[in-house]
Amino acid sequence: MKLQEYQAKELLEKFWVPVPAGSVATNGGEAREIAERLGGRVVVKAQVLMGGRGKAGGVKVFDDAEQASVFAADLIGKRLVSVQNPQGMVVEKVLVSERIEIEKEFYLAILLDRAAQRDTIMVSAKGGMDIEEVAASEPEAIVRLAVDSKWGLCDYEIRAALVAAKINPRAHRQMVPMIHALYSAYKESDATLLEINPCALTKDGKVVAADAKVIIDDNALFRHPDYAALGSESAEDPIEAEAVARGIAYVRLDGEIGVIGNGAGLVMLTLDEIAKTGKKAANFLDVGGGAQADRVRSCVELIFMDPRVKGLLINIFGGITRGDEVAKGVVEALQDLKVKVPVVVRVEGTNAEEARSILATANLTPAKTVQEAAEKIASLVGS
Ligand code: GDP
Ligand code: MN
Repeated sequence: MKLQEYQAKELLEKFWVPVPAGSVATNGGEAREIAERLGGRVVVKAQVLMGGRGKAGGVKVFDDAEQASVFAADLIGKRLVSVQNPQGMVVEKVLVSERIEIEKEFYLAILLDRAAQRDTIMVSAKGGMDIEEVAASEPEAIVRLAVDSKWGLCDYEIRAALVAAKINPRAHRQMVPMIHALYSAYKESDATLLEINPCALTKDGKVVAADAKVIIDDNALFRHPDYAALGSESAEDPIEAEAVARGIAYVRLDGEIGVIGNGAGLVMLTLDEIAKTGKKAANFLDVGGGAQADRVRSCVELIFMDPRVKGLLINIFGGITRGDEVAKGVVEALQDLKVKVPVVVRVEGTNAEEARSILATANLTPAKTVQEAAEKIASLVGS
């Protein structure tokens, strides 16, 4: 799960990482109030979960509150499109922060290097908006420091990395504790990525996190209920956001056949079988073990929030999950939602017989095997 910049900065502040003062606004009036409170010299930043906002026109510096509020009012409600995100995202909030006078922009990141099985600190003196280019053309300008989990992060290693990265020596004394603080924030929040770009050295010699990106490991969200609650705001896709709110494992894909299955493996098998027919699945959805009728219903609702869905394949292998419970949920949901598109159901395992007789009351196409189910839904959806 990605945090918005302002949420990431709130997290960093808790660990004493220096961050420019600021607040979020959802309209021009609020932006003006915040800008006035900060003395007028501010930076207004679109709060969208994508990189390259600066180049996309989503970050701008101002000398007075009036101009800042006009820009904020104009930006809110607009779709911001960047190189990394050609589809773009609508701006709902802006961060209005104290404008800092930047002398030099550094790059700092902490991420989990899965191949090395270590947390890794990345440092570069060539931070700012072209870091991707730096990574491609002169990778040696980005220094990596793997953290030994037995010893943790030591001061001398950080200093050596700062020297190797040719970071301005004026900044070292502040950056050593800052990197320790960032690493604490990274570990305590169960992040898989924490990126500060730019980490700014200001004209008056201070080092601050001018931008922040944090990705929290979804599998650790149960330990962070306050982040889990931010779910809907943090999802890039509105249906995925709704799925997070409903506690359903759902990933939106780009096809037209909705899929519901129980168990990630079975769902993936179903996606493969759909792919073999030449069609594409609209989503991955795992109802989980022991699903009751109301949960199944909730899943069906979710599938049909996607207007591209032209057919639904339900594939359940009853173990802990009882086939008749699933069938009840499916039949209820299809009736309530007045579903008009074809639905193919394959149920095996616990209470499969009872399931089939419940399903027979609705206008569904039964299938015996996953292959048969995929072929049936593909031909019903047509071309
Ligand atoms: P991104 O493009 O989405 O990564 O957004 P950033 O937050 O990194 O902002 C883009 C660029 O705007 C930064 O690289 C800075 O050069 C500039 N910028 C951001 N905040 C300030 C600020 O307070 N003062 C000044 N002078 N420039 C800023
Ligand atoms: Mn940035």
